[in-house]
Amino acid sequence: MKKIGSLAIVLGAAGLLWFWSSHSTDVRENRDGAEHGFFAMDTYFTVNAYGIGCEEAVLEAEEETKRLEQLLSVTVPESDLWRINHAHGQPVAVDGDTISVLTEAVAMGALTQGALDISVYPVLQAWGFTVSGEEEFQIPSEQKLRELLVSVDYQKVQIGETAVSVPDGMQIDLGAIAKGYTGDQLTELFRSRGITSALLNLGHNVQTIGERPDGTPWKIGVTDPFEPQEILGVVELTDKVVITSGNYERYFEKDGRRYCHILDPATGHPAQSGLVSVTVIGESGTYCDALSTAIFVMGREKGVSLWREQGDFELILVEEDGSVFITEGLRDCFLPESGHEVTEVLERVG
Ligand code: ADP
Ligand code: MG
Repeated sequence: MKKIGSLAIVLGAAGLLWFWSSHSTDVRENRDGAEHGFFAMDTYFTVNAYGIGCEEAVLEAEEETKRLEQLLSVTVPESDLWRINHAHGQPVAVDGDTISVLTEAVAMGALTQGALDISVYPVLQAWGFTVSGEEEFQIPSEQKLRELLVSVDYQKVQIGETAVSVPDGMQIDLGAIAKGYTGDQLTELFRSRGITSALLNLGHNVQTIGERPDGTPWKIGVTDPFEPQEILGVVELTDKVVITSGNYERYFEKDGRRYCHILDPATGHPAQSGLVSVTVIGESGTYCDALSTAIFVMGREKGVSLWREQGDFELILVEEDGSVFITEGLRDCFLPESGHEVTEVLERVG
């Protein structure tokens, strides 16, 4: 295998692990593949592609990711998001990608009845979840939360054909879905280059194209939320995305309680739905990334209702007491690690 750039796959931190032989030094076995690692969007990306043109494709993947980061990051000065947040209610001309991702984010806000709300950002900042490494965690007063929640309402984001505005005082952030959207753009890029086998490991998001080059399904590890260096189980799949939101990624603890970086927009507090991790498996990165965050907020009952209504994704849910629920579409492709078991397989007709 030809390696370009860093070889490291961030294992524990990645949240999802890939078991196949990307580390292999067996050049013969993997001579048609290229691997490229780079840091972007506050996480480590590893992209693997196989077949003709794979080397150019993995390098282009980095360029495309960095282009999207420059548009969608809330902290990069002059990004589209930054300009929208600093325009005091005025419309801001933005890139077509920004329009697309915001349109999807608002639609997912409606689908999840506001559990996903991209305007919760000022509340997130009040808890200290800002740029990683620079956090100053604190528990805001209820009064402060009430004041901030007045400006939280994704329905007030105005999206035109080429411009976007938010009311003065509102700030939006795409932390919940930007990586999923990026994964979809990279998938499109690879497909347009004729790549039929690839694996994108974008932090807690894994997106696959086709099968492994040997014609077998990809095997994607799902993190054990109680032991994030360990695996709960493996999902076998082809042409799908596997995206996890958990309470073990960014959090602080005070007086024995854990406060995580996913907020319930209804209360302004870190989500306390009883779930400790939500893995969503489906076709689209944007959709599944939005759902993993939203279902983490909604909890098992509402999440499962949404799964029954929508019928186009599958779930692995882990609750605080260690119970593991999977939806019936995963019955034959989720393999728990030894020491773990599935508590219940959820049926479509429940
Ligand atoms: P990760 O970024 O760890 O993969 P998620 O996809 O679940 O995890 O996104 C979490 C991020 O989404 C937070 O860091 C924050 O930027 C943003 N966020 C937190 N709560 C919400 C929410 N209820 N709706 C929309 N975005 C949220
Ligand atoms: Mg998400």
